Amino acid sequence: MNRGFIQQSAVKIRAALLGMALLCGYLCLPVSAFSQAAAVPPASAAPVIRITIDDSAVRQLLALIEVRDSSDASVEKWLDLPANQNLLRVGTLEDNLTRAQLKANAVAVINGTATRSTQPEGEIGRLLLTPPGDYRRLLDDLTATKNERISCIARRVAAFSPPGTEAAVTVYLHPGGNWDAINHKDSIYLNIHFWHDYHKPGWDGLNLIIAHEAMHTVQNRAYGNPEEQNDADGAWLTALSKIQREGTARYVEMETDPAPYEPYSYGFHNRALAAEALRGFAQTLGLLERLYTACYPRFDKAHFVAAYREGIEGGGPYYALGHGVAKAIDEKLGRAALIETVSRGPKDFFAKYRALCAKDPTLPPLPTNAAEQISRMKERL
Ligand SMILES: [Zn+2]
Repeated sequence: MNRGFIQQSAVKIRAALLGMALLCGYLCLPVSAFSQAAAVPPASAAPVIRITIDDSAVRQLLALIEVRDSSDASVEKWLDLPANQNLLRVGTLEDNLTRAQLKANAVAVINGTATRSTQPEGEIGRLLLTPPGDYRRLLDDLTATKNERISCIARRVAAFSPPGTEAAVTVYLHPGGNWDAINHKDSIYLNIHFWHDYHKPGWDGLNLIIAHEAMHTVQNRAYGNPEEQNDADGAWLTALSKIQREGTARYVEMETDPAPYEPYSYGFHNRALAAEALRGFAQTLGLLERLYTACYPRFDKAHFVAAYREGIEGGGPYYALGHGVAKAIDEKLGRAALIETVSRGPKDFFAKYRALCAKDPTLPPLPTNAAEQISRMKERL
């Protein structure tokens, strides 16, 4: 019973990080992300998506557990691994994890004194790998299937990438974190507990979540990731861009693996949630009305922040909103049209959907004031 709560709260925190990116800007892309968009390779080139999986934070902790090496030098070296540095970066921003705390947790895990109550589910510094043999088997299974997985994910993401896209992502697996997956500066950080402790053990859904996060890197390259909330036009475009980014990435993730996932695995749970949320697509379009009235005719930042949070947190209704729009464009206008929206951004994404609605009365329409603002808005800030 606990699992449902923890896993729900962890997903919520993952999405809360995205929400806070808008509020605090700490997951903001550097300015270079925008200049990269201008310096794309020849537009005719086939997209190239490179994926590397780095399991060293898990593998090296397992090695320390095996030989009971909790020496200062070994633990410090482990703490310096990129996955742990990211954990500490988020822990500093959220003020819920210090290097000393993470070190103490690592020592307890290596010495066999850590328990499920001293390192409870959902805590950012939770490093338990219990039983270690299970985790070793998981990593060995991943090693055996890695190449096949990487080509499957790269194929899927490339099929939605503008010509000339070149994207390289490193996926870091690690224990700890109050998220399942985050993308920071084109590196993806995955909390392995979601593939063992928090769901039925196994890698189902790993390809799905990497495809989702890698798609964000493609979006960063093609259009950028606007983060502006100080005026109406900035906030409006930023929120619409997030809806497009999350919705398109979710549409991409859904069919990464055509075969069914094992019941109660991470993939089974998340794909079922996304499919169910999509049933509410027509209702989610009403959220654009709320966003519009927070921005126009007078910008009310507090209302904007509240509306945005409601839409994005917990993998909220903005995901389903963008998912429904992306699916309609892909199915009714074709893949090239959807890829064009990845390069052109939210104005084109919603304008294409609005044009579709004019021709197809079975599609739920955008709220009138939001639709009119979309035709007035700039393509970029
Ligand atoms: Zn996302």
